[in-house]
Amino acid sequence: ACSFYCPVGAISEHSAVRKTLNILENKEGKIVVFQTAPATRVAISEEFGMEPGDISTGKMVAAIRELGADKVFDTNYSADLTIMEEGSELLHRVANGGVLPMFTSCCPGWINMVEKQYPELIPNLSTCRSPQGMLSAVIKNYWAEKKGVKPEDVVVVSVMPCTAKKDEAIREELKTESGVPETDIVLTTRELGRLIKLKKISFLSLKDSEYDNPLGESTGAGTIFGNTGGVMEAGLRTAYELALNKPMPTLNYTPVRGFKGIKEAELPFGEITLKVAVIHQAANIKRYLKKMKNGEVDHHFVEFMICKGGCIGGGGEPKSLTNDYLERRMKGVYSIDEKLKIRKSHENESIKQIYKDFFGEPLSHKSHKLLHTHFTDRSGKK
Ligand code: SF4
Repeated sequence: ACSFYCPVGAISEHSAVRKTLNILENKEGKIVVFQTAPATRVAISEEFGMEPGDISTGKMVAAIRELGADKVFDTNYSADLTIMEEGSELLHRVANGGVLPMFTSCCPGWINMVEKQYPELIPNLSTCRSPQGMLSAVIKNYWAEKKGVKPEDVVVVSVMPCTAKKDEAIREELKTESGVPETDIVLTTRELGRLIKLKKISFLSLKDSEYDNPLGESTGAGTIFGNTGGVMEAGLRTAYELALNKPMPTLNYTPVRGFKGIKEAELPFGEITLKVAVIHQAANIKRYLKKMKNGEVDHHFVEFMICKGGCIGGGGEPKSLTNDYLERRMKGVYSIDEKLKIRKSHENESIKQIYKDFFGEPLSHKSHKLLHTHFTDRSGKK
């Protein structure tokens, strides 16, 4: 779905599987830590004959443990962390006359598009790293220290719906102080499926396993990152409550849900009306940016995802044989959110704890160092 903006293809796919096998079979004192993205759990099932949208979080975690991982953490946790930072950044920009509209920055396909084709829009991008980037930074800089291990001895393998995340992981800005990438290996959902099959693990008969804590605790808000509109909805749940001291009138914010290419919504937000938009797929993004250039739209916050439906339609997800697989995966994601008791990122106890213990508060000096990044004009125009 995102081939033009995904700079790495089949060759690195194969090497990621081989590299992961190598490290799992010859650890040599290394600690191997996995993280799994929101959209993986509603699609990996298809690799093993189950239906699109079937939720197999517990089996996926169990399979990763069988493969030999030492810890399995959840990218949904850092999706919650992203919301804390990004929601605060939005409120800060709105209150202080910062650059608006603010654009989401968690989709590397979209980031590639801005850096290569629309570099003049870089100031609009939130400076937040993607959830993958945030979790790897937390693992290597906070968790490793707490465990008393050197960051170089921790290998982070992330499982993503996305081939563009492989490119994101090797960005210079996302390396540790000693110059190693914070995310060592990126496997796609499909590649994880291949690994599980290679090791002859009987996925369907696995007993459910839980993520390791504290970096495995997450909320419904973190989960819905997998769908187009999910980052926006999760962000609004938190920004609204932080700004106005009361919860949003409804948690299921339907105006930003569904497959329409450009979704727009307005939300009474204290003294202002907050105007938001959600766009998925490159053609719709180009259409929106043209409107923006012509002064036809005027939003505060805009979510962009390159793939159809968001990450559930990512280029690294299983190749589905049914026509309605995206609808079914989308439903699967929302059903996880509905069933969770805690559905707002700022109510995640482990997130509260890490701010107390380590970051202090959103947008703090430490947060800026580890959870934010910068983007570069790669258009060749300069
Ligand atoms: Fe990757 Fe998701 Fe963006 Fe697709 S929408 S390029 S899967 S981050």
